[in-house]
Amino acid sequence: MKIKDVLRERDRGFSFEFFPPKTAEARSKFMKVVHDIEQFNPLYVSVTYGAGGSTRDRTGNTIDWIQEETALTVMSHLTCIGQKRSSIEEVLKDLASKGVDNILALRGDPPRDVPGFDASAGELKYAKDLVDLIAGRDNFSIAVAVYPEGHFESPSIEKDMEYTKGKIDAGADFAITQMFFDNRYFYEFMDRAQKVGIDIPVFPGIMPVTDCRKIMEFANFCSATVPKSVRDAMTPLLDKPAEMRKLGVELAIRQCRDLIDNGVRYLHFYSMNRSEEVTAIITALDSV
Ligand code: FAD
Repeated sequence: MKIKDVLRERDRGFSFEFFPPKTAEARSKFMKVVHDIEQFNPLYVSVTYGAGGSTRDRTGNTIDWIQEETALTVMSHLTCIGQKRSSIEEVLKDLASKGVDNILALRGDPPRDVPGFDASAGELKYAKDLVDLIAGRDNFSIAVAVYPEGHFESPSIEKDMEYTKGKIDAGADFAITQMFFDNRYFYEFMDRAQKVGIDIPVFPGIMPVTDCRKIMEFANFCSATVPKSVRDAMTPLLDKPAEMRKLGVELAIRQCRDLIDNGVRYLHFYSMNRSEEVTAIITALDSV
């Protein structure tokens, strides 16, 4: 089912992101997580895609597993960096043949694990070009990524909003934010978005902090602010993983409650292929 139609029917709910497991042997462990999450009747679940097509097969296989064992609405991520138009068209054909109706259209970043990767060989420069290509086919509901603190390459927050508006106007039905840990960034982003006439649903992307070192590294890469209060609370727990996860869950519950209290109706969770934390978070939230 197209997510734009799901959102017409349901005015609140959760969605979850997974990444494709490295091996086929991981299927049962991965699917246990998906089945755990199924109980929350997600609006949809999404599967990431390695930039440059590095996970093309694994993303496809993971989608197959989910579709074989559940009735969940699935969205595939898709990146265009370094790709020929023809190879993207092939992936689109493949996804359509699997019955996938939804795509998160992304540019991607040059993959660090693909030696000799040549971004300049790509025929689509920005996510907007990919949205243009997909929207022209008329058979997918399209999502895009947005950045409450601005994308790290953007020269200014104003330019970032201009480009964001451009890719949404090209045909996006909804958007998902990069992780953020201070809700003020989200509220300010939504104000800016409203001012330029963006009126599609925007899912705040919630990243439960289960491994502070990894999150700090990733936040550093994508220029997402980890507030001092979060760093200070996490630092004494760096070598106490169970306590760190517990605190990460508490912080996420607080963050989600504040979003809900401020009228947010859709939440997107970066599950990190774990069900324990998101289960604890959602169970603690009365209802969205
Ligand atoms: P774009 O929208 O193309 O923006 C990239 C940069 O170009 C921005 O700085 C933008 O301001 C600028 N720009 C846009 N248009 C123009 C223009 N016309 N002229 C000049 N500058 C312009 N990455 C993966 O590899 N795989 C995934 O599965 C994945 N999933 C993600 C899911 C979410 C929810 C999010 C938030 C990110 C995800 N990413 C993923 C990361 C994403 O690929 C990176 O953040 C990437 O750096 C930007 O992708 P984009 O689609 O936002 O790019």
